[in-house]
Amino acid sequence: MARESFTPTTRLKLGQRAAYRCAFPGCNRLTIGPGVQADKIENSGKAAHIYAASEYGPRGQGLLTPEELKAITNGIWMCGHHADLIDKNSGERYPVAVLKSWKALHDYRIAYEHSGRAAAFGFVRSLTLLASPRFEPTTIEFGKTTFLVGGNKSGKTALLDWLSVLDSPRRLRRWLEPRQLHYALLFDAPGEHRLEIETGNGAVRFNLDARQVAFNHHRIAVTALTKRYDHSAEDDLANMMKLFHLDDISVRSLAELIDSTTLYLRSARFERETDDEGEMRETLQCRLQDGSEVPFAALSGGEQGRVIMEFAIAHMTSVASVAPALLIVERPNLCIDDAGFGFYLDYFSSSECRFQTVVTQFTLTEDIKGLGWQVYQLTGATDTALGKIEPVLPSKSKSGMTDR
Ligand SMILES: [Zn+2]
Repeated sequence: MARESFTPTTRLKLGQRAAYRCAFPGCNRLTIGPGVQADKIENSGKAAHIYAASEYGPRGQGLLTPEELKAITNGIWMCGHHADLIDKNSGERYPVAVLKSWKALHDYRIAYEHSGRAAAFGFVRSLTLLASPRFEPTTIEFGKTTFLVGGNKSGKTALLDWLSVLDSPRRLRRWLEPRQLHYALLFDAPGEHRLEIETGNGAVRFNLDARQVAFNHHRIAVTALTKRYDHSAEDDLANMMKLFHLDDISVRSLAELIDSTTLYLRSARFERETDDEGEMRETLQCRLQDGSEVPFAALSGGEQGRVIMEFAIAHMTSVASVAPALLIVERPNLCIDDAGFGFYLDYFSSSECRFQTVVTQFTLTEDIKGLGWQVYQLTGATDTALGKIEPVLPSKSKSGMTDR
C-alpha cells in the first residue's frame, strides 16, 4: 500500500499553525530560523503522522481513508528528535489519543499567545492515579474536550471530585477515610505544574511542584454542572444560584453577559414579579434567536438544559478571560437531545471557545466515536476488583465497543 504523505501545502500549514514549535509537552523547541545564505530558511521541524502514513507504521491506520491519513487533522508538528521518539516501538508509548491531546494543547497555547492574552493561558493535561480506593493506577490525558463514559457507580463522580481539587479541595471531604487516595494532576497555568494529592487518616497532603502547600495556589476555575436543575427553591434566581453555587448578584450579572447570535439564547434577564400570595419572585425571561421572549418555566426540559448550558458557557467565557477555566458537564442532567448537544460539542472544540470541557455520560454515543475526542470508558469496581479507566481508541476494536 502506498505511503500517504502530507502534501507540501499541508506540511506548511501544520508548521505555521504550530508557530514552528514542537508540540511535544515541555519541548516547545523553535524549529525554524535563518539559513546560511541570506535568502534561505532552515527548518528542523517535522510534520509527524498521528495515524501511520503506511500500512504497518506506528499506531496503525485506524479505519481512515487515504485522504484522511494525509489530511492536516492527522498531522502534528514536532522537532526532529520528538518526531522520531513518538514512532519508536510502533508508537506504543504514544497512542493516537495522547498525540491528539498534545496537538489540541499546542493549538490552544499558540492561539492564546497569538491573541495577546498569554497571561490567562491554562490547560489541564493529565490526571494520574497512583493509588485509589476505586480504580487501578492509570493516567487520563485531557484534550480540549474529554469524555468520561460509564454507567451508574462506575466512578465518574469520584474522578470529578478529584479533578475539581484544582479549584477547591471542598469535594475531597468524602475521600478522607478510610482507604488511601494518591494522585497527581499535571496542568499549565500558564507554566507547567504538578499537583500531588494524598489522603489518609482524615487529612490531605498537597504537594505543588514538589513543595508541600496548603492547597493548589495556581488555581484553575472549575465549574461543574453536576446536578439536575431543581425547581424546589422559591424562584428561578434561587434555583440558578443553587445550580452554579453563586450568589444572587453574580447570577444576575451572569444573565447580563448572555449576548449571542449563534447559540440558543440571544439574551436573558431576571424579572421581579409579585405572585398571588403577594410574595416577590424573580423569574428568568429568555430571549430566543427569533426575538420572542419566553419565561424559563415555560420551556421544555431540553430547552431549559440549553439555557443552563449557555449560562455555564457565559460563566466560563468570563472566567477564561482572566484565568484558566474548566467546565464539567454531566450530560444526562441537561436532557439536551443529541443534535442539540452536538452543537455544543462543536463549539467546545472550536478555537472560539477559550475553556476546556469534561463531559460525562452513561454510554458511548455515535457523536463521540469519531476522531478528535478524548474518550475514556470507566468500569466500576466490584467487591473483589478495582475499577478500570481505559481510553477508547478508534483504531482498536474492543468487545462491547464498536469502531467509528
Ligand atoms: Zn521537541
